[in-house]
Amino acid sequence: MRFDTRLVHSGQRPTPGTGDIVPPIHVTTTYDRFAQDPPRLFYTRGENPTRAALEECLAALEDARFCAVFSSGQAAAAAALSILEPGQRLVSSADVYGGTYALFATLSRYGIRVDYADLADPAQLRQALASDVAMVWVETPSNPLLKITDLAEVSRRGHARGAVVVVDNTFASPALQRPLELGADVSLYSTTKFIAGHADVLGGALVCDDEALHARFVEHRTVTGAVPGGLDCYLVHRGLKTLSLRVARQNATARSIAEALCDSSAVLEVIHPGLPSHPRHTLAGQQMSGPGSIVSFRYRDDPEKLLARTQLFACAVSLGGVRSLIECPALMTHRPMPRAVRLASGITDDLIRLSVGIEDPADLVADLANALEGDR
Ligand SMILES: *Cc1c(COP(=O)(O)O)cnc(C)c1O
Repeated sequence: MRFDTRLVHSGQRPTPGTGDIVPPIHVTTTYDRFAQDPPRLFYTRGENPTRAALEECLAALEDARFCAVFSSGQAAAAAALSILEPGQRLVSSADVYGGTYALFATLSRYGIRVDYADLADPAQLRQALASDVAMVWVETPSNPLLKITDLAEVSRRGHARGAVVVVDNTFASPALQRPLELGADVSLYSTTKFIAGHADVLGGALVCDDEALHARFVEHRTVTGAVPGGLDCYLVHRGLKTLSLRVARQNATARSIAEALCDSSAVLEVIHPGLPSHPRHTLAGQQMSGPGSIVSFRYRDDPEKLLARTQLFACAVSLGGVRSLIECPALMTHRPMPRAVRLASGITDDLIRLSVGIEDPADLVADLANALEGDR
């Protein structure tokens, strides 16, 4: 089966007896031992068939052996970090998701050091991985600057230093980029975003090929209780089936929007991996099958005014859903980051981030044009 067929079929076998082509949603917390032969389901924190179906599909999308889903992307990240030990070092992309940054800030309590570097810059990448490192954390395209890190290169160098290479693939989704095929050890997702795609459910996932790693992730999930319920897994899986269709449409519209922004005198700079002006445009074309539908730009006037003026782009955090969103990282998603750190990584106060949805492209372009013209 090819990717788009797996989206619809993996983990979705008709139920014996009734023939449901959509498997039932298992909401039970516990299972009767004598109604099973042999007993294999005990308690939903450990086992749940709706969850297992989603995991089967997400693993299949990356041709991976294992997937563990979580109650949120943050819970997935915490499980990934749980394999680290005191005295070890983590190297991370400098402009990571704000919540990831906040999570990393807690690691010093456990004696784990975090070094940030611009891993999209080959010289910084080499320098950051010049000594032993237990884990490399890569976000590509990064948030919100859409920096592109060479995944084959970072995996090769990370492995040479003994690291487990984790890629936060939330922005690309498996429809556009498959980190394990490029050499990474773990693909991390906030399934809240493109995978579920409808801004109505929270979830996370860790996809990998290594049995021991997977067992550690599942153990962490079970003992901390960071499991998604059956209904949530169903919602994520339902959304996932249309991933390719949504992503194709969102990518095409994002390209039109990026081009329109380039022509606007109210815009100082447009950042999108699909534009030839993007510093790693060629690399993005090699390791991704499309540039994605997040577009960032620097606005000439007051960001607050622009945020208030769009009609179709809702001013809200999050991304990857069917509805278009606009936000200002300095005021919203990246507010927890100390200002000096934020500015040093290029997240300036005038930066705006768009998440392009599936509305009519012409309506979206017009909405932005109106908002940008504003009081001119
Ligand atoms: C949203 C997000 C997360 C965190 O996921 P939640 O589901 O909100 O916990 C992690 N990484 C990236 C890149 C994200 O966009």
